[in-house]
Amino acid sequence: MSVAVPVPALGQLTYSVPDALPLPCAGARVVVPIGPRTLTGVVLGEAAAVDTAFTIKPIRQLIDTEPFVPADVVKLTQWVSDYYLAGAGATVASALPPQGLTARADRFKTVRVACLTAAGIDMAERLRAHSACAADGPRLGKRQAEALQLLSGAPGGLSAPALTERGLGAATLSRLKANGLIAIREERLDRDPFVHAVSTPPAVDLRAATPEQRQALEQLLPLAAMNAFKVALVHGVTGSGKTEVYLRLAEAVRQSGRGVLMLVPEIALTPQVASLFRARFGEAVAIQHSGLSDGERHDQWHRIRRGEVDVVVGTRSAVFAPLANPGLLIVDEEHDTSYKQDETPRYHGRDVAIMRGKFANALVVLGSATPTMETYTNALEGRYVLVTLEKRVLDRPLAEVSVVNMREEIAEAGEDVVLSRPLIAALGTRLEQKDQSLILLNRRGFATAIICRQCSATLECPNCSISLTVHSRNSGWVGRCHYCNFQKTVSNTCEKCAAPYMERVGFGTERVEAEVRKHFPNARVARVDRDTVRRKGSLVEMLAKVARREVDILIGTQMIAKGHDFPDVTLVGVISADVGLGLADFRSNERTFQLLTQVAGRAGRGERRGQAIIQSLLPSHYAITLACTQDYRRFYDAEIKYRRAMRYPPQIAMVNVVVRGRTFEDAMNAARDLADAARGDKGFALLGPAPAPLTKLRGEHRAQFFLKGTNRRVMREALQLAVSRKPALAKRISIDVDPLSML
Ligand code: ADP
Ligand code: ZN
Repeated sequence: MSVAVPVPALGQLTYSVPDALPLPCAGARVVVPIGPRTLTGVVLGEAAAVDTAFTIKPIRQLIDTEPFVPADVVKLTQWVSDYYLAGAGATVASALPPQGLTARADRFKTVRVACLTAAGIDMAERLRAHSACAADGPRLGKRQAEALQLLSGAPGGLSAPALTERGLGAATLSRLKANGLIAIREERLDRDPFVHAVSTPPAVDLRAATPEQRQALEQLLPLAAMNAFKVALVHGVTGSGKTEVYLRLAEAVRQSGRGVLMLVPEIALTPQVASLFRARFGEAVAIQHSGLSDGERHDQWHRIRRGEVDVVVGTRSAVFAPLANPGLLIVDEEHDTSYKQDETPRYHGRDVAIMRGKFANALVVLGSATPTMETYTNALEGRYVLVTLEKRVLDRPLAEVSVVNMREEIAEAGEDVVLSRPLIAALGTRLEQKDQSLILLNRRGFATAIICRQCSATLECPNCSISLTVHSRNSGWVGRCHYCNFQKTVSNTCEKCAAPYMERVGFGTERVEAEVRKHFPNARVARVDRDTVRRKGSLVEMLAKVARREVDILIGTQMIAKGHDFPDVTLVGVISADVGLGLADFRSNERTFQLLTQVAGRAGRGERRGQAIIQSLLPSHYAITLACTQDYRRFYDAEIKYRRAMRYPPQIAMVNVVVRGRTFEDAMNAARDLADAARGDKGFALLGPAPAPLTKLRGEHRAQFFLKGTNRRVMREALQLAVSRKPALAKRISIDVDPLSML
């Protein structure tokens, strides 16, 4: 038998099945010996040809006679292992409930439920008849009589917390129990993640679909009914009502008896989507994301596995949810980079969803206003069905977008200018009109670096090759590394030359907040970025405050650009729209276009028309001008030419290999060895090795190389072979197939 245990470093393991045990099925849990330990793992299937040089140990114990992890999910994890060159241990862990493999009852939260015994029912009857304490039988206190009466109206019993709420505590219950009038049982209580939901689900709203939504459904419903593998791209401008299309499609698939799996980038950022699904489908929805407690996730996982839900809404990892017979998989905002996992297994949730759809003969729907180059190319070349929504619902116009050339602002107001004159004026108007505004800057902190004006020394992280970001604290300035979280207080004196001339350069969201407060001291200002939303639930609270109109101006990083639907936001300002354009990443144009289009899409979603003001030092860059006209197709046409000319994805596929070492030499030599072992095959180009953009990260030095080619399989096999020839390097290598970030 081939078995995977959830230990990232381990691959597939082979065990024999003792005669006393039945043959385990794929997905069943088994207890197996590993060295001196015994661990619980999952059966993947029959083992491939067995190398008899090794002694094969027998399975110790078989826990399930039916699959614990559904067989198609087991197959999916194996596909992920192969495609992304990740160990079976790492991938199987993705498909397991958060609290592990052993089904211990105490992982479920339980609650005590009281109900009447036969004697209790009898007594309650008599109480009602005499409406006073009966003379015969045990004497009851007032509380006990009250409890009996309550319970007689609840044949299924009442939970201890519900009784306590009515002032009927443990003492009352134990007296009733001692007299044989009630019985108390322990019941499983599923923790409900909707307790944290930002808004209570609105009442089910059966509004008519718009003509465009109807057209989209006329294309999609027949595809869903085919019970065959199909991929469709719903390309709809921001505010075109894609969610309503998903909801109606989901309803149809559910009616046909198949399950629905909907992936969203980050639930905390798009709480409305989860709430809308909950409002439409009620208890039939389960929710899976990292913002839930382990307990909540565990309970949700088991609800799905027990078949109690038809619809799962969740983030990336929910693609492995144990949902039986999925007929529809939706990937909302398919361009979002949070679908890519940045640790092993480095899978892309969208691509795994497509494979799951393929295994399940299901319809996969990808949705976005700004699809990735990869997805749109697939649609244009006919591999995906293209469904387009060109207009906003109710004929609301897209925001009016303008660019402010920051060179002119700098000439007027100096190098240090953060808010341009047009943006300040527009913010002022919104405050007068009592409309809300969003300001985006995709960079945290107060200043991006600190530099000595005498000797030019900068303050670098001791563990990473990057300068510390300056944050302002009540106590003064703090320098922090955004990669490893190293931090130290920053003084005005240079550590190198002792001159008191340390200067903060560049700016981030904290500085924008300070400037906005300076200009508008009476405005209610809030900021959301990773520094302000560390605490679980705080982002949800903040967004809820915006929704309740308790905030006039919200400042934030790309977190505020995602699918929120705030009808009273009529102005969006973008500071330094070109932040990303300077980066040595071939996707930086695409990222910038997506971010600007998405954030402009947050404005004017209500009755009043929206306005977006984009500040940039490169106002004529095509990623910026085409975001202004929100012309996706012209951006795609320009960008695909560049990708083809430069041989970048989607023209070809790439694999990135990073090799770590104690010194830079060490990393570079090892990378050279590995690259040489992988070279030779004619099916791809090998670029590098070279220093990684972050040559030092968390104290480790890093070198990298790329494979570029049209056949992923050839590249994977060459790498696999190279790694197997250099087993000593295995622990120092990270392989990223279809890397999303070049940095
Ligand atoms: P998208 O995801 O395409 O940006 P949404 O799904 O958030 O757009 O919809 C935008 C807005 O339009 C939401 O406020 C939504 O409630 C509203 N809406 C969607 N469909 C309809 C409809 N058929 N009639 C009226 N309003 C709608
Ligand atoms: Zn660091």
